[in-house]
Amino acid sequence: MKLLVGIIIFILGLCFGSFVNMLVYRTALRYKLIKSQFLISNDQKKRSFCDYCGKQLKWYENIPVFSWLFLRGKTRCCNKKLPVSYPIVEILMGILFIINFQFLISNDKLNWFSILLSLIIIVLLVFSATFDWKYMILPDFATIILIIISFLGVLFDEPNIIPYLLSAVISAVFLLAINLATKGKGMGMGDVKFALFMGLFLGFPKIILAFYLAFILGAIYGILLILFRKANKKSQVPFGPFLILGTILVWMIGDKLLILLYSIL
Ligand SMILES: [Zn+2]
Repeated sequence: MKLLVGIIIFILGLCFGSFVNMLVYRTALRYKLIKSQFLISNDQKKRSFCDYCGKQLKWYENIPVFSWLFLRGKTRCCNKKLPVSYPIVEILMGILFIINFQFLISNDKLNWFSILLSLIIIVLLVFSATFDWKYMILPDFATIILIIISFLGVLFDEPNIIPYLLSAVISAVFLLAINLATKGKGMGMGDVKFALFMGLFLGFPKIILAFYLAFILGAIYGILLILFRKANKKSQVPFGPFLILGTILVWMIGDKLLILLYSIL
């Protein structure tokens, strides 16, 4: 029974991953980062269509992960390459859904409100990470929704809001200082705004751990890129995905990480 529940939640995650991919694609269209070769009609807005020629997709072309594998990463209608990020995002969402479900159970928060709230946050975080990875932009609308949600969460859930407000402001100022020092090359304004959310959402001292993980993981990725000669020191690597990875890790397993840290120190 437990395995069956796990499989259902994983598949649900895959479907939401598919939704995130669509959201990334349509936001890129709206931001004019990519051009559509066809006009999107009102009818198409409600249905799934091919990224390249606009043909409506058959049901079997629209199954998360499997369609990508079955079509060998190409569209069936016009034989164009489909990005490998599609199945990666879908599998990532499947895994996150499982971890989140475990997290909600172990924190005794398996109610509709917490489920819905965590679901919105996961969708927005994976959307922002994917979008930043592809286009080097953290879309404002996602960050603003995240800031509002975490602010309301602190307002209704925490006895003292001040430490959260402080960690939000200090985090943003910290990244803004890096932004100014590197003349915007190391850190974008999107990251600065995102730090407001991180501070409100995680609070002190978890925010420190999230930044620490983000910088370490970002540095490891940068070194790996240089080692495998995929980049030189001038290549730009978006920092948003690492901030988001740090946030998710601390959110889901932060308590365990902190206990581990205190036991070492
Ligand atoms: Zn097509």
